Amino acid sequence: MTPPALTLLERPSPNFDARTRPVDLVVLHYTGMQDAETALARLTDPAPKAGRYPGPWQPAETPPDQDLGRVSAHYVVAEDGRVFRLVDEAQRAWHAGVARWDGESDVNARSIGIEIVNGGHDFGLPPFADAQIAAVEALLADILGRHRLGPHRVVGHSDVAPERKLDPGEHFPWARLAARGLALWPLSRPAEGGAVVTQGDVVVAVQEALCAFGYGAPVTGEVDAATQAVLAAFQRRFRTRRIDGRLDEETAAILADVGAQAATLRIARLRS
Ligand SMILES: [Zn+2]
Repeated sequence: MTPPALTLLERPSPNFDARTRPVDLVVLHYTGMQDAETALARLTDPAPKAGRYPGPWQPAETPPDQDLGRVSAHYVVAEDGRVFRLVDEAQRAWHAGVARWDGESDVNARSIGIEIVNGGHDFGLPPFADAQIAAVEALLADILGRHRLGPHRVVGHSDVAPERKLDPGEHFPWARLAARGLALWPLSRPAEGGAVVTQGDVVVAVQEALCAFGYGAPVTGEVDAATQAVLAAFQRRFRTRRIDGRLDEETAAILADVGAQAATLRIARLRS
């Protein structure tokens, strides 16, 4: 099947500042709002007030004139596959918030943010439409090609902010993207579950592997709260059948698999 041609609809947002690093990461989000127009309004609003965006993300008694943070993304992909450009890729959009990847806390400085219109966990995790994912694929193929980035440079918001964020959520079709070289997916299928470990040298090795993959995991030798959050984010992407934040043999085997793929891609980049 030939991917659809990429047509961008301009919907400029004033919410950006100067990019301070070259682009080397793409962060995928779901909007978590009721529809595309509400999300576009929020992402282009220079002075957002709580009363303009009522929803399950804020208590009903929130004063309507309360200021909200200014946010944006480079692109918004609607359910019907329309792609809106809000911020030029040369600028730094405000999508990741407090985050960490590859030891870098200013994730916005080096990433492109794509908001995918979907209600998310607050709206019962609706499925992503086929036309929408086809548009995400066309957009990602274009971005990765222009910036010469490999599939290991596409991550979810929950990967870079595992203690705060759940998006793009466990219904996001990472395997479909990976089949087109637009994300990573394990090549092997390890046995389900297996022994659970909570402390010791194996935990240190897994924490180091999570950090090498890019996660902001502590290296403590214990599956502490921060490590559980990272493991849950990892499972939300690669082992959605059970997202429990525990370190079992299956999770460790999947990490070894995708970690080796990412390491190979990082080394290959040295030659290019
Ligand atoms: Zn997000």
